[in-house]
Amino acid sequence: MSARPSPSTSPAHAVLQDVFGYEQFRGPQQAIVEHVIAGGDALVLMPTGGGKSLCYQVPAIVRQQQGRGVTIVVSPLIALMHDQVGALHEAGVEAAFLNSTLSYDETQDVELRLQTGGITLLYAAPERLNTPRFLGLLDSLHQGGHLSLFAIDEAHCVSQWGHDFRPEYRALTVLHERYPGVPRIALTATADALTRADIVERLQLEGAQHFVSSFDRPNIRYRIEEKKEPLAQLLRFIEREHAGDAGVVYCQSRKRVEEMAQALCDAGLNALPYHAGLPAEVRQQNQDRFLREEGIVMVATIAFGMGIDKPDVRFVAHVDMPKNIEGYYQETGRAGRDGLNADAWMAYGLQDVVNQRRMIDESPASEEFKQVMRGKLDALLALAEATDCRRVRLLGYFGEHSTPCGNCDNCLNPPAVWDGTDAARKLLSTIYRVQQASGLSFGTGHIMDIVRGKDTEKVKQFGHDKLSTFGVGKDYAEPQLRGVLRQLLATGAVGLQKVMLESGHSFDTLSLTEGSRPVLRGEVAVQLRESTAAAPAKRARTRKGTGSAPPAAAANLGPDAQVRFINLKSWRAEVAREHNLPAYVIFHDATLAAIAERAPATLDDLQGISGMGAKKLEAYGADVLRVVRAG
Ligand code: ADP
Ligand code: ZN
Repeated sequence: MSARPSPSTSPAHAVLQDVFGYEQFRGPQQAIVEHVIAGGDALVLMPTGGGKSLCYQVPAIVRQQQGRGVTIVVSPLIALMHDQVGALHEAGVEAAFLNSTLSYDETQDVELRLQTGGITLLYAAPERLNTPRFLGLLDSLHQGGHLSLFAIDEAHCVSQWGHDFRPEYRALTVLHERYPGVPRIALTATADALTRADIVERLQLEGAQHFVSSFDRPNIRYRIEEKKEPLAQLLRFIEREHAGDAGVVYCQSRKRVEEMAQALCDAGLNALPYHAGLPAEVRQQNQDRFLREEGIVMVATIAFGMGIDKPDVRFVAHVDMPKNIEGYYQETGRAGRDGLNADAWMAYGLQDVVNQRRMIDESPASEEFKQVMRGKLDALLALAEATDCRRVRLLGYFGEHSTPCGNCDNCLNPPAVWDGTDAARKLLSTIYRVQQASGLSFGTGHIMDIVRGKDTEKVKQFGHDKLSTFGVGKDYAEPQLRGVLRQLLATGAVGLQKVMLESGHSFDTLSLTEGSRPVLRGEVAVQLRESTAAAPAKRARTRKGTGSAPPAAAANLGPDAQVRFINLKSWRAEVAREHNLPAYVIFHDATLAAIAERAPATLDDLQGISGMGAKKLEAYGADVLRVVRAG
């Protein structure tokens, strides 16, 4: 029984099926691929995991077949080029990279292959592109009619509004100016209007057709909980729902990364740290282990993750709040690229609001820039405080309309809401009175102590127990007031001011703002989610005696197929080690699961399994059958 469908109709389809082993293009891929094959410029906005790579790889292969020569892929991801090129080799595509990790001889070898037409896709770092030597190479290819296409990956790097600004990207205008007839495709997963406009302008893509996909990642479940004890909360989340899974934990600072990674290791997890302060070799090594081994939890700053195309990351956790929704969405998007269930989990608290506000205030950037950053932070805070569907808000931020998703915390467990208006007014009038009485401003702890009527040393020292608002909120629990303050800060109804002490230390104090007045007057209601203990896990997997749950891809296999799946995985691990590549580059879990389920007896039976291209069938088909038989 051959599962191959009728002969493909277009060269693009043929490449998709034969080379990549996929039956169909996804979403707008086909339109993009055809536009680019025909020589058009394109700007592609697709969420992480949407399938951007094929949008330039398929045209590159088809155009090469048409005799148009090589595609140059500009990518900032030097540390990943080896694996990206390795993945293409596995699929039988001639690819190479040029970056600073190559020796002189290796570089010469690549250049020679390039000149003799032996390369279909060449990955190059942007700084490499602008060297006279490289431009000389491109010139000669161009003169011979062998410069087919430019693909500019991670195109948001050209924009300072994106979160990964790389000045070298600005110089990429040279491509258009020097080789005006060569089509260009720019791709990114960061798509707010500002960044998008900036990409078009900076890369001179005014004539490009825009392809904007839905940004929805339906298999990702978004959850944001109140931060109490982040480590304990994180451990509970991982242990209950993701034991043995690969995941990423994002932290704000290097120090925090180190502490968190250590704490997770102490708790028996396989955790590794990653941040820009680690030596380059350690970073590369940890990244390789994350990609190559199973079940590693990477604890990282945002320095980690761009271009990581590991498909089976089952969760992304934020123990500190990111800077904006673009960052949050890109980071969480690294979960579940294989389309199977995945979690995006964040713990968020008052201190996050304070920290993020302060980082903007203290940055040396222009006031205009800070205003933009504040607006972006506000949008993220509104998401964190939301009591309605998270996905509707996320997609709304990217200009997409949607209806409640049924797969976020607020949809699954609509939060109880309480009216914090009275508490908010009491807090605000206390901030006002304190300022009036002493001409000084104070931090959150002290203000809450006054409202709750606690006569601490400090309260007595400043005579704040004499204020009319002393103890007006003694019926409120501390977490409640904290929640109200957090929301007041999040919505800008309370401002932060930094006070420097003579000792050189500084602390943040609270002040009234324009936004305080409507709250004080009772014109705006303050709605808060009830502070609850962490809700019980909803998606805890059923454990089978052994204590470890089957991986997501194999969850629906019968017992015999499970055995085959496990055998196939250990065979794959061996091959991956031999080839020095991550296992998923050989075959995805989903492909192995499909093989295990089908229990093929002949090479023909393997045809048409998603991810089984012609080259892989030829290289591995016999081995796969042997492993299946042995099981
Ligand atoms: P992006 O670069 O947009 O984050 P990738 O190009 O890495 O996404 O693709 C995400 C995953 O989806 C990859 O594992 C890829 O092999 C798979 N994929 C992409 N297009 C298709 C398709 N048409 N059919 C099946 N799988 C696909
Ligand atoms: Zn929802």
